[in-house]
Amino acid sequence: MLAPPGAGKGTQASRLAAHLGIAHIASGDLLRREVAAGTPLGEEAAGYLDRGDLVPDALVIGMLREALKRAAAKGGFILDGFPRTLAQAEAAYTLAVTDDLAVDAVIWLEVSEAELRRRMVARAAAEGRSDDTRSVFEHRLAVYAEQTAPLLEFYGNRGVLHKVNGEQSVDEVFADILAILERLDLASS
Ligand code: ADP
Repeated sequence: MLAPPGAGKGTQASRLAAHLGIAHIASGDLLRREVAAGTPLGEEAAGYLDRGDLVPDALVIGMLREALKRAAAKGGFILDGFPRTLAQAEAAYTLAVTDDLAVDAVIWLEVSEAELRRRMVARAAAEGRSDDTRSVFEHRLAVYAEQTAPLLEFYGNRGVLHKVNGEQSVDEVFADILAILERLDLASS
C-alpha cells in the first residue's frame, strides 16, 4: 500500500489482510511498538517519529526483514508504510531476490492534500498520536512529496502500480482494491 499520511492505508491494509487471511505488516505500528516497549531500536526511532521524519532505512529494513519472511512462509502479507524511500524500494527488490519476498502489486491510494488535512484533524482527536499535530503533519506531507512520491514512478515503470481513488468511502475504496486484486488473480471475493 502506497499513500500519503492519513490516506487510509492502515484501515484498508488491515481489512484486506483479514479478508485474505494473511499478515498485515505496518512499519509505523511496529516502530511505535518498539518505542512503547523501550527497546534500543525504539529509543533510536522515537525522535524521528515525533518530528515526522523518516526513520533511517537500515533500521526499518532490519526490523521488517524477519517479519516479512515469517509472513511469506505463512501465505503472504499486506505491506503498509514500507517502502517509503527509493533506497527502501531498492532494498525491497534485493529481498525479493535473496529471500523470495517479491511484491505482487502496489496499490496507490490517491487523496488530495485538502482531504488529508481534514482527516488528520479527526485522527488527532481520536488517537492522539505524537505526529498528528498540525505542524508535524505538514512536515510529513512534505517528506512524502519529497521522499515517497518518487516511488510512484519507480513502480509505474515496473508495471505493478494500481491507482485507487482514496477519497471514496472506506467500503468503496476496499471494493476497488479487491477488484484490482481479483483481476490479478490475487484474491477472490
Ligand atoms: P501513516 O499511516 O499516517 O502514513 P505510519 O504509521 O505509516 O503513518 O508512519 C508513521 C511514522 O513512522 C513515519 O512518519 C516515520 O517516522 C515512521 N516510518 C514508518 N514507516 C517507515 C519507513 N518505511 N521508513 C522510515 N520511517 C518510517
